[in-house]
Amino acid sequence: MSKPNPFEIAQKQLDDCAKILNLDAGVHEFLRHPKIEYHLSIPVRMDDGSTKIFQGYRVQYNDALGPCKGGIRYHPDETIDTVRALSAWMTWKTSLLGLPLGGGKGGVICNPKEMSMGELERLCRGYIDKIWQNIGPDKDVPAPDVYTTPQMMAWMMDEYSKLTGSNNFGCITGKPLCVGGSCGRSDATARGGMYALREAARELNIDLSKATFAIQGYGNAGSFAHSLAKELFGGKVVAISDSKGGAFNAKGIDADEAARIKAETSTVANIPGAKKISNEELLELDVDILVAAALENVITKDNAGRVKAKIIVELANGPTTPEADEILFQNKVHVIPDFLANAGGVTVSYFEMVQNIMRYCWSFDEVYAKLDERMTMAYQGVLAASKKYNVNMRQAAYTVAVSRVVDAMKTRGWV
Ligand code: NAD
Repeated sequence: MSKPNPFEIAQKQLDDCAKILNLDAGVHEFLRHPKIEYHLSIPVRMDDGSTKIFQGYRVQYNDALGPCKGGIRYHPDETIDTVRALSAWMTWKTSLLGLPLGGGKGGVICNPKEMSMGELERLCRGYIDKIWQNIGPDKDVPAPDVYTTPQMMAWMMDEYSKLTGSNNFGCITGKPLCVGGSCGRSDATARGGMYALREAARELNIDLSKATFAIQGYGNAGSFAHSLAKELFGGKVVAISDSKGGAFNAKGIDADEAARIKAETSTVANIPGAKKISNEELLELDVDILVAAALENVITKDNAGRVKAKIIVELANGPTTPEADEILFQNKVHVIPDFLANAGGVTVSYFEMVQNIMRYCWSFDEVYAKLDERMTMAYQGVLAASKKYNVNMRQAAYTVAVSRVVDAMKTRGWV
Protein backbone atom coordinates (compact mmCIF):
# COMPACT_ATOMS: atom_id res chain seq x y z
CA MET A 1 0.00 0.00 0.00
CA SER A 2 1.48 3.38 -0.98
CA LYS A 3 1.98 5.98 1.75
CA PRO A 4 -0.41 8.97 1.72
CA ASN A 5 1.13 12.08 0.19
CA PRO A 6 1.50 14.64 3.03
CA PHE A 7 1.14 17.61 0.68
CA GLU A 8 -2.15 16.28 -0.68
CA ILE A 9 -3.27 15.95 2.95
CA ALA A 10 -2.23 19.53 3.71
CA GLN A 11 -4.13 20.72 0.62
CA LYS A 12 -7.21 18.71 1.57
CA GLN A 13 -7.15 20.24 5.08
CA LEU A 14 -6.98 23.71 3.52
CA ASP A 15 -9.82 22.84 1.08
CA ASP A 16 -12.03 21.87 4.04
CA CYS A 17 -11.21 25.15 5.74
CA ALA A 18 -11.91 27.12 2.55
CA LYS A 19 -15.44 25.68 2.56
CA ILE A 20 -16.03 26.64 6.21
CA LEU A 21 -14.72 30.18 5.63
CA ASN A 22 -16.31 30.45 2.19
CA LEU A 23 -12.92 31.60 0.83
CA ASP A 24 -12.69 33.41 -2.48
CA ALA A 25 -11.59 30.92 -5.19
CA GLY A 26 -8.44 32.88 -6.17
CA VAL A 27 -7.31 33.31 -2.57
CA HIS A 28 -7.90 29.61 -1.96
CA GLU A 29 -5.90 28.60 -5.05
CA PHE A 30 -2.99 30.86 -4.04
CA LEU A 31 -2.89 29.27 -0.57
CA ARG A 32 -2.85 25.74 -2.01
CA HIS A 33 0.72 26.10 -3.34
CA PRO A 34 4.09 27.37 -2.08
CA LYS A 35 5.06 30.89 -3.08
CA ILE A 36 8.68 29.87 -3.84
CA GLU A 37 10.67 26.64 -3.67
CA TYR A 38 14.37 25.96 -4.09
CA HIS A 39 15.86 22.62 -5.20
CA LEU A 40 19.51 22.32 -4.23
CA SER A 41 22.28 19.96 -5.38
CA ILE A 42 24.84 19.91 -2.60
CA PRO A 43 28.26 18.33 -3.27
CA VAL A 44 29.92 17.00 -0.11
CA ARG A 45 33.44 15.63 0.19
CA MET A 46 33.05 12.31 2.05
CA ASP A 47 35.63 10.93 4.48
CA ASP A 48 36.80 8.32 1.93
CA GLY A 49 37.75 11.09 -0.53
CA SER A 50 34.75 10.62 -2.83
CA THR A 51 32.25 13.39 -3.57
CA LYS A 52 28.58 12.69 -2.95
CA ILE A 53 25.77 14.91 -4.24
CA PHE A 54 22.89 15.38 -1.82
CA GLN A 55 19.48 16.63 -2.89
CA GLY A 56 18.16 19.44 -0.67
CA TYR A 57 15.08 21.65 -0.61
CA ARG A 58 13.88 24.92 0.87
CA VAL A 59 10.23 25.84 0.44
CA GLN A 60 8.97 29.33 1.35
CA TYR A 61 5.25 28.73 1.49
CA ASN A 62 3.81 32.09 2.48
CA ASP A 63 5.32 35.23 3.99
CA ALA A 64 2.29 37.51 4.21
CA LEU A 65 2.64 37.77 7.98
CA GLY A 66 6.44 38.13 8.04
CA PRO A 67 9.69 36.28 7.21
CA CYS A 68 9.29 32.53 6.64
CA LYS A 69 10.18 30.27 9.54
CA GLY A 70 10.64 26.51 9.63
CA GLY A 71 13.04 23.67 10.30
CA ILE A 72 15.43 21.71 8.12
CA ARG A 73 14.93 17.96 8.22
CA TYR A 74 17.60 15.37 7.32
CA HIS A 75 15.95 12.07 6.40
CA PRO A 76 16.55 9.28 3.87
CA ASP A 77 12.85 9.33 2.87
CA GLU A 78 12.62 13.12 2.51
CA THR A 79 10.56 14.25 -0.50
CA ILE A 80 9.67 17.64 -1.93
CA ASP A 81 6.02 16.97 -1.12
CA THR A 82 6.87 16.35 2.55
CA VAL A 83 8.73 19.66 2.63
CA ARG A 84 5.83 21.44 0.90
CA ALA A 85 3.36 20.03 3.41
CA LEU A 86 5.55 20.95 6.36
CA SER A 87 6.02 24.48 5.03
CA ALA A 88 2.25 24.89 4.66
CA TRP A 89 1.75 23.67 8.22
CA MET A 90 4.41 26.16 9.40
CA THR A 91 2.43 28.97 7.75
CA TRP A 92 -0.69 28.03 9.68
CA LYS A 93 1.27 27.43 12.88
CA THR A 94 3.02 30.82 13.06
CA SER A 95 -0.28 32.49 12.21
CA LEU A 96 -2.19 30.51 14.83
CA LEU A 97 0.27 31.56 17.54
CA GLY A 98 -0.01 35.20 16.48
CA LEU A 99 3.69 35.39 15.53
CA PRO A 100 4.83 38.00 12.97
CA LEU A 101 6.20 35.23 10.74
CA GLY A 102 5.32 33.20 7.66
CA GLY A 103 5.97 29.53 6.96
CA GLY A 104 8.85 27.68 5.33
CA LYS A 105 10.63 24.35 5.58
CA GLY A 106 13.78 22.65 4.35
CA GLY A 107 15.07 19.16 3.94
CA VAL A 108 17.94 17.07 2.66
CA ILE A 109 17.72 13.46 1.48
CA CYS A 110 20.43 11.81 3.55
CA ASN A 111 20.92 9.35 6.36
CA PRO A 112 22.69 11.22 9.17
CA LYS A 113 23.04 7.97 11.15
CA GLU A 114 25.48 6.74 8.49
CA MET A 115 27.49 9.98 8.24
CA SER A 116 30.49 11.14 10.29
CA MET A 117 30.49 14.47 12.15
CA GLY A 118 32.85 15.88 9.51
CA GLU A 119 30.54 14.83 6.66
CA LEU A 120 27.53 16.30 8.47
CA GLU A 121 29.35 19.59 9.04
CA ARG A 122 30.27 19.81 5.35
CA LEU A 123 26.67 19.02 4.38
CA CYS A 124 25.34 21.75 6.72
CA ARG A 125 27.78 24.31 5.34
CA GLY A 126 27.06 23.15 1.76
CA TYR A 127 23.31 23.62 2.31
CA ILE A 128 23.87 27.22 3.42
CA ASP A 129 26.33 27.88 0.57
CA LYS A 130 23.51 27.06 -1.86
CA ILE A 131 20.70 29.03 -0.17
CA TRP A 132 22.24 31.89 1.86
CA GLN A 133 21.17 34.67 -0.51
CA ASN A 134 17.54 33.63 -0.15
CA ILE A 135 17.38 33.27 3.63
CA GLY A 136 18.15 35.57 6.59
CA PRO A 137 16.40 37.30 9.50
CA ASP A 138 14.20 39.40 7.18
CA LYS A 139 13.50 36.64 4.64
CA ASP A 140 13.47 33.12 6.01
CA VAL A 141 14.86 31.74 9.27
CA PRO A 142 15.55 27.97 9.45
CA ALA A 143 15.69 25.82 12.60
CA PRO A 144 16.23 22.14 13.54
CA ASP A 145 13.77 19.38 12.75
CA VAL A 146 13.99 15.59 12.48
CA TYR A 147 17.63 14.42 12.71
CA THR A 148 19.09 17.94 12.72
CA THR A 149 20.62 19.28 15.93
CA PRO A 150 21.66 22.52 17.68
CA GLN A 151 25.27 21.79 16.64
CA MET A 152 24.18 21.65 13.00
CA MET A 153 22.37 24.98 13.43
CA ALA A 154 25.61 26.43 14.84
CA TRP A 155 27.55 25.32 11.73
CA MET A 156 24.84 26.76 9.50
CA MET A 157 24.80 30.08 11.40
CA ASP A 158 28.60 30.22 11.21
CA GLU A 159 28.59 29.60 7.46
CA TYR A 160 25.91 32.26 6.93
CA SER A 161 27.87 34.71 9.12
CA LYS A 162 31.05 34.07 7.11
CA LEU A 163 29.26 34.60 3.80
CA THR A 164 27.54 37.80 4.95
CA GLY A 165 30.58 39.11 6.81
CA SER A 166 28.81 39.72 10.12
CA ASN A 167 27.86 37.81 13.25
CA ASN A 168 24.33 37.06 12.20
CA PHE A 169 22.92 34.95 15.03
CA GLY A 170 19.32 35.76 14.11
CA CYS A 171 19.61 33.96 10.73
CA ILE A 172 18.82 30.59 12.27
CA THR A 173 17.30 29.34 15.53
CA GLY A 174 17.62 26.27 17.70
CA LYS A 175 21.32 27.09 18.24
CA PRO A 176 23.29 26.07 21.32
CA LEU A 177 23.05 28.58 24.18
CA CYS A 178 26.70 29.69 23.81
CA VAL A 179 26.10 30.98 20.25
CA GLY A 180 22.82 32.85 20.61
CA GLY A 181 20.45 30.04 21.54
CA SER A 182 17.51 30.70 23.84
CA CYS A 183 16.89 29.29 27.28
CA GLY A 184 14.00 26.86 27.03
CA ARG A 185 14.40 26.09 23.30
CA SER A 186 15.39 22.44 23.72
CA ASP A 187 12.17 21.32 25.41
CA ALA A 188 9.94 24.04 23.94
CA THR A 189 7.99 21.83 21.55
CA ALA A 190 7.08 19.31 24.22
CA ARG A 191 6.48 22.00 26.87
CA GLY A 192 4.15 23.95 24.58
CA GLY A 193 2.26 20.71 23.87
CA MET A 194 1.94 20.04 27.59
CA TYR A 195 0.56 23.57 28.19
CA ALA A 196 -2.05 22.91 25.48
CA LEU A 197 -2.77 19.50 27.01
CA ARG A 198 -3.33 21.14 30.40
CA GLU A 199 -6.00 23.39 28.81
CA ALA A 200 -7.64 20.42 27.05
CA ALA A 201 -7.69 18.33 30.22
CA ARG A 202 -9.29 21.22 32.09
CA GLU A 203 -11.99 21.45 29.41
CA LEU A 204 -12.62 17.67 29.48
CA ASN A 205 -12.36 17.33 33.28
CA ILE A 206 -9.42 14.95 33.13
CA ASP A 207 -7.11 14.92 36.15
CA LEU A 208 -3.64 14.73 34.60
CA SER A 209 -2.02 13.71 37.89
CA LYS A 210 -3.92 10.42 37.57
CA ALA A 211 -3.63 10.11 33.78
CA THR A 212 -1.70 7.46 31.86
CA PHE A 213 0.40 8.47 28.84
CA ALA A 214 1.75 6.62 25.78
CA ILE A 215 4.40 8.40 23.72
CA GLN A 216 5.34 7.41 20.18
CA GLY A 217 8.78 8.67 19.12
CA TYR A 218 11.63 9.31 21.51
CA GLY A 219 13.65 12.12 20.01
CA ASN A 220 13.59 15.75 21.05
CA ALA A 221 9.80 16.08 21.21
CA GLY A 222 8.95 12.66 22.65
CA SER A 223 11.65 12.38 25.30
CA PHE A 224 10.90 15.82 26.75
CA ALA A 225 7.17 15.03 26.69
CA HIS A 226 8.01 12.06 28.89
CA SER A 227 9.89 14.05 31.53
CA LEU A 228 7.42 16.96 31.43
CA ALA A 229 4.34 14.74 31.81
CA LYS A 230 5.81 13.78 35.16
CA GLU A 231 7.32 17.14 36.11
CA LEU A 232 4.33 19.35 35.25
CA PHE A 233 1.42 17.03 36.09
CA GLY A 234 2.71 13.97 37.96
CA GLY A 235 1.22 11.81 35.18
CA LYS A 236 2.31 8.22 34.51
CA VAL A 237 3.98 7.34 31.21
CA VAL A 238 3.29 3.64 30.61
CA ALA A 239 4.53 3.23 27.03
CA ILE A 240 7.22 4.77 24.84
CA SER A 241 8.73 3.90 21.48
CA ASP A 242 11.22 4.85 18.80
CA SER A 243 11.93 3.67 15.26
CA LYS A 244 13.26 0.33 16.58
CA GLY A 245 10.23 -0.55 18.72
CA GLY A 246 8.50 0.23 21.98
CA ALA A 247 8.19 -0.70 25.64
CA PHE A 248 5.14 -0.96 27.93
CA ASN A 249 5.03 -1.09 31.72
CA ALA A 250 1.69 -0.56 33.50
CA LYS A 251 3.57 0.59 36.61
CA GLY A 252 5.14 3.45 34.66
CA ILE A 253 8.45 4.07 32.89
CA ASP A 254 11.04 6.39 34.39
CA ALA A 255 12.30 9.10 32.01
CA ASP A 256 15.90 8.97 33.26
CA GLU A 257 16.04 5.21 32.87
CA ALA A 258 14.57 5.45 29.37
CA ALA A 259 17.21 8.01 28.40
CA ARG A 260 19.97 5.79 29.80
CA ILE A 261 18.74 2.65 27.99
CA LYS A 262 18.36 4.59 24.75
CA ALA A 263 21.92 5.93 25.08
CA GLU A 264 23.32 2.46 25.86
CA THR A 265 21.35 0.33 23.39
CA SER A 266 20.19 2.97 20.86
CA THR A 267 16.52 2.12 21.48
CA VAL A 268 13.98 2.48 24.29
CA ALA A 269 12.57 -0.95 23.43
CA ASN A 270 15.08 -2.64 25.77
CA ILE A 271 13.85 -1.19 29.07
CA PRO A 272 14.23 -3.89 31.75
CA GLY A 273 10.96 -5.12 33.26
CA ALA A 274 8.89 -3.63 30.40
CA LYS A 275 7.08 -5.62 27.73
CA LYS A 276 8.31 -5.09 24.17
CA ILE A 277 5.55 -3.67 21.94
CA SER A 278 5.39 -2.44 18.37
CA ASN A 279 4.69 1.14 17.36
CA GLU A 280 1.31 0.01 16.04
CA GLU A 281 0.39 -1.54 19.41
CA LEU A 282 1.43 1.60 21.28
CA LEU A 283 -1.09 3.70 19.36
CA GLU A 284 -3.97 1.43 20.39
CA LEU A 285 -3.17 1.14 24.11
CA ASP A 286 -5.84 1.85 26.72
CA VAL A 287 -4.33 5.12 27.98
CA ASP A 288 -5.75 8.58 28.70
CA ILE A 289 -3.23 10.57 26.68
CA LEU A 290 -1.51 9.55 23.44
CA VAL A 291 1.43 11.71 22.40
CA ALA A 292 2.34 11.25 18.72
CA ALA A 293 5.94 12.46 18.50
CA ALA A 294 7.47 10.52 15.60
CA LEU A 295 6.56 11.00 11.96
CA GLU A 296 3.54 11.66 9.74
CA ASN A 297 0.66 9.30 8.79
CA VAL A 298 0.77 6.94 11.75
CA ILE A 299 -2.93 7.25 12.67
CA THR A 300 -4.92 6.26 9.60
CA LYS A 301 -8.40 5.01 8.73
CA ASP A 302 -7.10 1.49 9.44
CA ASN A 303 -6.25 2.03 13.11
CA ALA A 304 -8.10 5.22 14.17
CA GLY A 305 -11.15 3.24 15.29
CA ARG A 306 -8.97 1.30 17.73
CA VAL A 307 -7.40 4.37 19.40
CA LYS A 308 -8.59 4.38 23.02
CA ALA A 309 -6.91 7.54 24.31
CA LYS A 310 -9.18 10.42 25.32
CA ILE A 311 -6.74 13.08 24.09
CA ILE A 312 -4.14 12.89 21.32
CA VAL A 313 -1.34 15.44 21.50
CA GLU A 314 0.18 15.71 18.03
CA LEU A 315 3.75 16.79 18.68
CA ALA A 316 4.73 15.29 15.32
CA ASN A 317 3.70 17.00 12.13
CA GLY A 318 0.89 15.29 10.25
CA PRO A 319 0.56 12.08 12.30
CA THR A 320 -3.18 11.78 11.54
CA THR A 321 -4.71 11.39 8.09
CA PRO A 322 -7.97 13.24 7.22
CA GLU A 323 -9.99 9.96 7.19
CA ALA A 324 -8.63 9.15 10.64
CA ASP A 325 -9.58 12.64 11.83
CA GLU A 326 -13.23 11.97 10.99
CA ILE A 327 -13.22 8.66 12.84
CA LEU A 328 -11.56 10.20 15.92
CA PHE A 329 -14.05 13.11 15.94
CA GLN A 330 -17.00 10.67 15.78
CA ASN A 331 -15.44 8.65 18.62
CA LYS A 332 -15.03 11.85 20.67
CA VAL A 333 -11.26 11.56 20.84
CA HIS A 334 -10.02 15.12 21.47
CA VAL A 335 -7.15 15.80 19.06
CA ILE A 336 -4.83 18.72 19.78
CA PRO A 337 -3.73 19.23 16.18
CA ASP A 338 -0.08 19.34 15.19
CA PHE A 339 0.24 22.99 14.33
CA LEU A 340 -1.21 23.91 17.72
CA ALA A 341 0.28 21.12 19.86
CA ASN A 342 3.84 21.44 18.55
CA ALA A 343 3.87 25.22 18.16
CA GLY A 344 6.02 25.67 21.29
CA GLY A 345 9.12 24.99 19.18
CA VAL A 346 8.54 27.79 16.71
CA THR A 347 7.31 30.10 19.45
CA VAL A 348 10.56 29.83 21.39
CA SER A 349 12.44 29.97 18.08
CA TYR A 350 10.70 33.30 17.55
CA PHE A 351 11.79 34.35 21.07
CA GLU A 352 15.33 33.32 20.09
CA MET A 353 15.20 35.54 16.98
CA VAL A 354 13.89 38.47 19.01
CA GLN A 355 16.62 38.04 21.62
CA ASN A 356 19.31 37.81 18.90
CA ILE A 357 18.08 40.91 17.10
CA MET A 358 17.63 42.95 20.32
CA ARG A 359 20.66 41.42 22.15
CA TYR A 360 18.42 40.25 24.99
CA CYS A 361 19.08 37.14 27.11
CA TRP A 362 15.84 36.02 28.75
CA SER A 363 15.83 33.59 31.70
CA PHE A 364 14.16 30.17 31.63
CA ASP A 365 11.25 31.53 33.69
CA GLU A 366 10.72 34.47 31.35
CA VAL A 367 10.65 32.13 28.35
CA TYR A 368 8.30 29.62 30.01
CA ALA A 369 5.88 32.37 31.08
CA LYS A 370 5.79 33.91 27.59
CA LEU A 371 5.36 30.46 26.02
CA ASP A 372 2.55 29.53 28.40
CA GLU A 373 0.71 32.76 27.62
CA ARG A 374 0.94 32.20 23.84
CA MET A 375 -0.02 28.51 23.98
CA THR A 376 -2.96 29.12 26.30
CA MET A 377 -4.24 31.97 24.13
CA ALA A 378 -3.89 29.89 20.96
CA TYR A 379 -5.57 26.83 22.51
CA GLN A 380 -8.52 28.88 23.79
CA GLY A 381 -8.88 30.60 20.41
CA VAL A 382 -9.06 27.24 18.64
CA LEU A 383 -11.51 25.83 21.19
CA ALA A 384 -13.77 28.87 20.71
CA ALA A 385 -13.63 28.44 16.91
CA SER A 386 -14.44 24.72 17.20
CA LYS A 387 -17.58 25.62 19.16
CA LYS A 388 -18.47 28.50 16.83
CA TYR A 389 -18.29 26.39 13.64
CA ASN A 390 -19.07 23.03 15.30
CA VAL A 391 -15.96 21.47 13.75
CA ASN A 392 -13.05 19.42 15.07
CA MET A 393 -10.02 21.11 16.62
CA ARG A 394 -7.90 20.82 13.46
CA GLN A 395 -10.52 22.44 11.27
CA ALA A 396 -11.03 25.10 13.95
CA ALA A 397 -7.29 25.81 14.08
CA TYR A 398 -7.30 26.16 10.29
CA THR A 399 -10.11 28.73 10.39
CA VAL A 400 -8.19 30.92 12.86
CA ALA A 401 -4.83 30.59 11.10
CA VAL A 402 -6.00 30.88 7.50
CA SER A 403 -8.21 33.91 8.29
CA ARG A 404 -5.19 35.81 9.63
CA VAL A 405 -3.02 34.98 6.59
CA VAL A 406 -5.84 35.98 4.24
CA ASP A 407 -6.31 39.26 6.13
CA ALA A 408 -2.60 40.02 5.78
CA MET A 409 -2.59 39.15 2.06
CA LYS A 410 -5.62 41.36 1.44
CA THR A 411 -4.21 44.22 3.51
CA ARG A 412 -0.90 44.03 1.62
CA GLY A 413 -2.86 44.10 -1.64
CA TRP A 414 -1.77 40.66 -2.88
CA VAL A 415 -5.27 39.36 -3.51
P1 NAD B 1 14.00 13.55 16.44
O1 NAD B 1 14.82 13.24 15.25
O2 NAD B 1 14.67 14.12 17.62
O3 NAD B 1 13.23 12.22 16.89
C1 NAD B 1 12.43 11.46 16.08
C2 NAD B 1 12.06 10.22 16.87
O4 NAD B 1 11.07 9.47 16.17
C3 NAD B 1 13.25 9.26 17.12
O5 NAD B 1 13.18 8.73 18.41
C4 NAD B 1 12.99 8.14 16.10
O6 NAD B 1 13.55 6.90 16.52
C5 NAD B 1 11.48 8.11 16.15
N1 NAD B 1 10.89 7.46 14.99
C6 NAD B 1 11.24 7.56 13.69
N2 NAD B 1 10.43 6.77 12.96
C7 NAD B 1 9.56 6.19 13.82
C8 NAD B 1 8.48 5.29 13.68
N3 NAD B 1 8.14 4.82 12.49
N4 NAD B 1 7.81 4.94 14.79
C9 NAD B 1 8.15 5.42 16.01
N5 NAD B 1 9.16 6.24 16.21
C10 NAD B 1 9.85 6.63 15.13
O7 NAD B 1 12.80 14.47 15.92
P2 NAD B 1 11.93 15.47 16.78
O8 NAD B 1 12.55 16.79 16.67
O9 NAD B 1 11.59 14.88 18.08
O10 NAD B 1 10.62 15.52 15.85
C11 NAD B 1 9.58 14.54 15.95
C12 NAD B 1 8.34 15.09 15.28
O11 NAD B 1 8.01 16.32 15.92
C13 NAD B 1 8.50 15.41 13.79
O12 NAD B 1 7.28 15.19 13.13
C14 NAD B 1 8.84 16.90 13.79
O13 NAD B 1 8.49 17.50 12.56
C15 NAD B 1 7.95 17.35 14.93
N6 NAD B 1 8.36 18.62 15.51
C16 NAD B 1 9.54 18.76 16.17
C17 NAD B 1 9.88 20.01 16.67
C18 NAD B 1 11.14 20.22 17.47
O14 NAD B 1 11.34 21.35 17.98
N7 NAD B 1 11.97 19.23 17.66
C19 NAD B 1 9.03 21.10 16.50
C20 NAD B 1 7.84 20.91 15.84
C21 NAD B 1 7.51 19.67 15.33
